[in-house]
Amino acid sequence: MTALHEVGDQLFAYVQRDGGWGWSNAGLVMGDGSSLLVDTLFDLKTTQAMLDTMAPLISIAGIEAIVNTHANGDHCYGNELVPGVDIIASEASADEMDELPPQALAALVDLDVDPLTRAYLQSAFGPFEFRNITMTPPTTTFSGRHEVDVAGRKVELIEVGPAHTRGDTLAYVPDADAIFTGDILFIHGTPIIWDGPVQNWVDACDLITGLGVTTVVPGHGPVCGLDGVEMVRGYLVWLYAEAKQRFEVGMSAQDAARDIELGSYADWGESERIAINVDSIYRELDPSHESAGVLANFTLMAELANR
Ligand SMILES: [Zn+2]
Repeated sequence: MTALHEVGDQLFAYVQRDGGWGWSNAGLVMGDGSSLLVDTLFDLKTTQAMLDTMAPLISIAGIEAIVNTHANGDHCYGNELVPGVDIIASEASADEMDELPPQALAALVDLDVDPLTRAYLQSAFGPFEFRNITMTPPTTTFSGRHEVDVAGRKVELIEVGPAHTRGDTLAYVPDADAIFTGDILFIHGTPIIWDGPVQNWVDACDLITGLGVTTVVPGHGPVCGLDGVEMVRGYLVWLYAEAKQRFEVGMSAQDAARDIELGSYADWGESERIAINVDSIYRELDPSHESAGVLANFTLMAELANR
């Protein structure tokens, strides 16, 4: 169920459904008279519903800035609905946003492909409306670390990408021992490695753990603690080793994705993302690795999801 949760003093997490494809989380950090929105959502309808839910809070502390944790559309396509505010993102994320316009996703959903792939794309992206979105890019970019003063309240932005995407950023709220991780964490869902290297992602998990936070808001799925960070770290380390073994004996990335036994990870949502994850790990192991391509990976995910 989609809901706004109070996760700390003047601190809120907006958690959507089960956290599956496109159902991302966002956050609101309230300062004294104004607030910071951490991420917008995948389309205008879902973002407007979130802003309506937050209305009683925003009426006290209007949104003065947005942070986009990374470039995936489910974390930035709704930016236009908060006009005139500062939009902050890492420089790497801002660059990547230019390459992922909403129209490209609209086209992906409508591709003339085999019925199984088409049904998979429809189930992942069909619930969202991409055609009416005006991409609204960041107005402030940074590299490394960047401190935001939210009406007297400190929020620390920590760039940890490339990992899930090129410019992944954490939003750490020290006074609440809380962190918004963007898609560095998927809880009860399978992480998706668009970029890597995996070690950067593992390091990001260790950084979060090192902060000793008690409240962790993932990019997808329910709010958790450091146990959630360990679960994701465990998946990454396990999958890297499994993929590497198969790479070393010359198995193709697609066959490796079919071959790896998921064990308990089969219970996580979208476990078929292993198709993209293994492909990314192969690229990491051999920069000249020729990916089957995004569409072929969606076809493989459709196959894995239906077996
Ligand atoms: Zn996401």
